[in-house]
Amino acid sequence: MNYIVFDLEWNQSAFGRSGEHPRMPFEIIEIGAVKVNEKYEIISEFSSLIKPKIYKKLHNSIRAMLNYDENELKNGKPFQEACTEFLKWCGPEEYVFCTWGSTDLFYLQNNMDFYYMNKLPFPVKYYNLQQVYADRFTDDQAISKLEKAVQYFDIEVDEPFHAAINDARYTAKVMAAMNQKDILELYSYDLYRHPKKKEEEIADYHAGFFEFISKEFSCKRDALLDKDLIALNCCKCKKKTSKKMKWFQVTQNTSMAVGRCWYHGYVIGKIKFKSCGGSDDNVFAYKKVTLSDKSGLEELKKKQEDIREKRKQKRHEKNSSAE
Ligand SMILES: [Zn+2]
Repeated sequence: MNYIVFDLEWNQSAFGRSGEHPRMPFEIIEIGAVKVNEKYEIISEFSSLIKPKIYKKLHNSIRAMLNYDENELKNGKPFQEACTEFLKWCGPEEYVFCTWGSTDLFYLQNNMDFYYMNKLPFPVKYYNLQQVYADRFTDDQAISKLEKAVQYFDIEVDEPFHAAINDARYTAKVMAAMNQKDILELYSYDLYRHPKKKEEEIADYHAGFFEFISKEFSCKRDALLDKDLIALNCCKCKKKTSKKMKWFQVTQNTSMAVGRCWYHGYVIGKIKFKSCGGSDDNVFAYKKVTLSDKSGLEELKKKQEDIREKRKQKRHEKNSSAE
């Protein structure tokens, strides 16, 4: 199997929201990719500039980053042509996408949808190397720029960043360097598309955690009645845990819970709700269960108390201003 490490550059409306196309807020202007074999060697490269159709003028922040401009983009290929060539180049051997972050895969599919191209097969499993870097090589979960990882692994910087092909090459080099810590189990599921019905739901134990991607629900409250979604099983042995903290709302779209496995100790569940993108309230949920410990439970308890306290204060302020 090959790895397709790709990077995109995109443009947006140079005139703010008013000039924005609702179906394509970000328009891809460059695709850069390298094909990497199982020994992490680059065996082929792909690079294409794309002639914009919607946003012909570069947004200032994008212009400042790129080392080309509108004049060069005029000579690019139409998106459908470049994208079709790219997807053909990815094969014919089996492959898996690898990117720095989750947005490239998101906008690739969004732009494909804009032109009514065939969708990628569902679900798309890929390596989010930015996430792998955060999980295995840094202490904090903060999002790291590619430059930081390149520096961390002492990779020679011989080409400028923010040209898609260069960033793809750097990402492939970072991936090769990360291989020292067995990263193959650390794949992700792309969330651009989600399961529509129960049979399509994704439940996967891998890399020591459990991931669950739910079907569509008409609202969050409905979702939280779904047995499969609120189940909190041990991410190691898949057995039911005893409840230590019920699901509680942490932010508007996040809920958390704690359970305890007889064999493996505490596990923490996190549910994130995502909009299905329509005009209604429809949501789907992404649940991740990870191993934790006593201090994880204590931390979460403290968090819950803080949230309760804040809500109480808010209510109090509301009441006293109403008087
Ligand atoms: Zn267990």
